[in-house]
Parts: sequence; structure tokens; C-alpha cells
Amino acid sequence: MAKAVLQGIAVSTGIAVGKCFFLNRGPGSVRHVTVAADKVESEAIRLVEAVEAVAASFAGARELLDDSAGGIQVEVLDSHLLICRDPKLSGEALKRVREQRMSAEWALEETVSSIAETFSRIVSPYIRERMEDVRLVADRIIRHLSGDASAQSTGNERGILLAHDLSPGDAIGLNPERIFSFATEQGGKTSHTGILARSLRIPALVGVTGLCDSLRGGELLIVDALKGRLLVEPDEAELAEYLQVQEQYAAYDMRIRKLAARPAETLDGQRIAVLANVESAAEAGTVLKSGGEGVGLVRTEFGYITRATLPDEEELYNEYRAMAEALAPGKVTFRTLDVGAEKVFSGRVVPDEANPALGLRAIRYCIRHQDIFRTQLRAVLRASAHGNVSLMFPLISGVGELRLAKSILNEAKQELAAGRIPFDREMPVGIMVELPSAVLMADDLAREVDFFSIGTNDLIQYSLGVDRGNRHVAHMHQPLHPAIVRAIKQVVDMAHREGISVSVCGEMAADPYCLPILLGMPVDELSLAPQSIPAIKHLIRHSDADKCRQLLSHALGAPTIRSISNMVRQLLYQCFPEDVSFFVSQQSMDA
Ligand code: PEP
Ligand code: MG
Repeated sequence: MAKAVLQGIAVSTGIAVGKCFFLNRGPGSVRHVTVAADKVESEAIRLVEAVEAVAASFAGARELLDDSAGGIQVEVLDSHLLICRDPKLSGEALKRVREQRMSAEWALEETVSSIAETFSRIVSPYIRERMEDVRLVADRIIRHLSGDASAQSTGNERGILLAHDLSPGDAIGLNPERIFSFATEQGGKTSHTGILARSLRIPALVGVTGLCDSLRGGELLIVDALKGRLLVEPDEAELAEYLQVQEQYAAYDMRIRKLAARPAETLDGQRIAVLANVESAAEAGTVLKSGGEGVGLVRTEFGYITRATLPDEEELYNEYRAMAEALAPGKVTFRTLDVGAEKVFSGRVVPDEANPALGLRAIRYCIRHQDIFRTQLRAVLRASAHGNVSLMFPLISGVGELRLAKSILNEAKQELAAGRIPFDREMPVGIMVELPSAVLMADDLAREVDFFSIGTNDLIQYSLGVDRGNRHVAHMHQPLHPAIVRAIKQVVDMAHREGISVSVCGEMAADPYCLPILLGMPVDELSLAPQSIPAIKHLIRHSDADKCRQLLSHALGAPTIRSISNMVRQLLYQCFPEDVSFFVSQQSMDA
């Protein structure tokens, strides 16, 4: 038996076995001292220099990136650079040094606490993760100030890297030949560290409770990034078992990636399009490499919320055009700005709302702020002249709202036409089905648009009344809830009856345990994170659509999540006896 088993969240699948070492155990030590009046200016300079040194290390890491590194790392480094230089962080800390005579580390620590206090009023994964980024940057500056910056890896260690948290700069410097896995105490499934781990393709766990307290470094570890656990000092039998699993997983992973470019067609000839979800144009290369046939969802708000000022039409047009050109003839589906609730602009005042998830978000925000909406619509329309572009509106609640959004789009089209600015007059326009009201109105809505894209993350949240960012009810956010399965079926049937296509672009699309249900519907398209595409395409190619249809017809009569998940599990074990242990579900299957 292993000495201890720590639980964590698998963010990049696989198994690693080896000795561990620490990169850092958290923020450097903080001196809580009041600075003498005549030393205040030199303390302020110490802070400014530390901020500049850390910013320079981010900038240096960014320069080292070549195109093959993928866009996410560049984006993460840019956002950390932005945080580093944001006056809300360094400026406020500097004020505390000058006005309250705090030591630089202390001032920074206090500033982070007050930012965290503001953030904590909004419970949401996005905000929590942005706060994690702020903390990460501040920790890095504090480590620099307290002289702990050199307590970093010498670059010579081999093995499993452990850290309180990893900055993008740290992660980019990792050499997968020497560092074959990492685990951190901080972080969540969609944190930047998680995203980076997936692009480095080394097994990784984040959010490992007790990591820094229970390990000293030097222990032999098994990182099980399939089941989300870390075994400390495993015994011989565990070691032998895991070495075997590791070998099998490596063979499986190589097999599925090699075939990622092949079309996704079931054994009995049902074709399904597999596209990618992206946050920026820089990810186009990763989409193609992963076997994505295009982009089914561009979360355009990421081009807004990571910056201090609003982008103008020209900037947006250039970015959207680059994406359309890079992926042509593949499709690129731009979702209009989905801000509000958990996604807030850094440079704008957030409305004070008691229930932000039920408030001024997504299409509602755009209808209220039509100047911002029109700028984006014009940019997408102009980009449509350069590729295969589609547009969709998020969080549509009914026909009236959709018609209003479409009328604003039509006005933008008329303006462009009057100015003789080219755009695709036939650009498909769709909606995201994310609200129970849209499910109930699916037939009427289908007559007004060219396609549906089901945003299951929100559809589950709003149908089951489960806040998708609240960890206390996270186990209830279940795509295999009978109500969700029936809702999707109703949307698919109504859309097909009206002759339009249906995509699924929530996390459900990347979940092997949900795939048989979606194939049975059948949905026409799946859109998911690029890293998950090879596995889902592999599964589709080895599935039998007829069996999935039969499974779905039973699932539609089932009263509980457990009964549906048992049916799916049975089918997967029957069809994929060798691979099923490598399927990582996005949610608990035992609810
Ligand atoms: C969804 O709600 O499923 C979706 C894809 O949109 P987002 O996760 O960006 O809200
Ligand atoms: Mg959504």
C-alpha cells in the first residue's frame, strides 16, 4: 500500500512514475515591517524593480516561444504581463508603501487580499481563475523581493515537478524530456496551468490538497492523471500495476493522435463533424493539428475581458479575418460577446446585480450596449468575406429577443452594403440553446435561424438550477440527468424537423461517457477543446450509431442519472474493453 494517496484534478491525462522535487512551495516569506520614513522611497524603488524584473521574465519567456508552442501560452503570458503592470496591483501596492510605510512584500500581500475581497463577491470559475492569476503573479513578485527567486528549478532535475502553483513562465520553461509530469496544490480544471499542461501533453494534476504540507521532495510518486490521484511511495505491486497502465496509455494515446485527421464516421456510416472551441485566433494551428475540422465556437469575449480597453472594429476584424483565413475552407463560428455573470470586462464597471447569472449577460448585455455589439457584428461580417464564417447569439431566451438581435445584425449589414464594404450575404446565423425557454420554443426558433448550438454547460446550469461554478453543488451539474437528455432530444428533433443542423459545444461534447447519447440523437456536430478531439474522433470511429440509438431510446425512458450512466457505462465496456480505463469523465458518474 502507498504511504498516502492525495486527491487532485486530472488536467492532462496519463500516468507518470518517478521521484519528485519542488519548484516552489508557495509565496516567498513576507516581511511585515513598517519602513522608516527616510527609507520609503528606496522601498518603493525595490518594489518597482521587482515588478519590472518579473515582467521582464514573462516577456523573455514569451519571446522564446515559437509558433509550434500554440497560442494559449502566448495569451497566458500576455495576460500575466498585463496583470504584472496593472496599476490595480503594482500601483496600489506602491501607494501602500508610500502612504502606510509598509514593506514592499507586505504592501503587495495586502493589495492582493483587497482585490480578492472584491472578487469573492462574485462566485464563478472564471473570476476565481482570474484571481488565481493575480495571486500567481503577486507570489512571483514576492518571491523575487524575498530573494527566493533562485529557489527555482536549476533545470537539471529530472522527475515529477511539484509546486504550490506554476506560472506560465515556469510551465513554458519545462522540458518534457526531464520533467515528465507535474502536480500543483492550486488550480482548477480550466485554470491557465491546466490549459498549459494539456498543450505540453504531460500528465498533470492540479488542486492537490495537502501537496505542499505532506511531501518533502525526493519521494517516489505515481501521478495517476486518469483517476485524479497521487500515490506517495507506492509498494511493489502498485508500481508494477501502474507501469503497465502507463505503457498501455502511451500506446493508446499515440494510436489516437496518429489517426486524428481521419473523418469521424461511425462503423455503420454515420458522419459527425468534429470542430474545436477556441478563445483566440492564435489557436488555429492547434485546431488543425488536433484533427479539428474547423471551429464550432469562438468564445470572443476572451478578446475583451483580458484587456483594459475595448477593442475597436479594425482590431477585431483583423483577428477574426486571420482566423477565418487560417481555417478556410473549414468553418469558423463566432459567438457574439458573452460577457456578464462570471465573465467581466476588466476595464468596465460591473453592474451591481444580486443574481449575475440571471442578469445582464450575453445577448442581454449586447442589446443594452448596442455600440459594443454593432462594432463586433461589423467585424464578424467583414471577416466573413475571407472564409467560411458563421455567427451565433448566446443565451437566447425567445423569438422576440432573437428577432431584435437579428434586426441589429441586418442594420450592420445595410451599413456595410451602403459603404460598399464586402461581406458574405449568406453568412449562416444561429443561436446557442442554453435556456429551458429556448428548448420549449425550439420549433419556433428553428424557423428563424440556420443552426442551433447547444451550450450544455449553461443549459444544465439553468435547467437543473445548479450554479456551474459552485463547488458545493458541482456533483449535481450532470449532463446525463434525464431532464437534460430529454431536452437535447427535443431540440434535435425540432431542429431536424425544420431542416437545420445541431451542434453541441458544451463540455458534454468532450465527455466519452456522453458520446453514445449524443450519437444516438443524432447531433450533427460536436465542438470541444482541441486537446480532446483525437480521443472523441477515435471513439466515434469505433462506435455503432445503431447501438447508440437503441441506448438513447432506453435512456429517454429512464428516471435517474444513475440508470442512464449505468447504461452508457455498460455500452462503453462492451465496445471499448481495452480503452475504457483511459476515458476521463468530465463529471462524477456516481450521482
Ligand atoms: C455552454 O454554456 O455550454 C457554452 C459552450 O458556453 P460557455 O461555457 O462559454 O458559457
Ligand atoms: Mg454558455
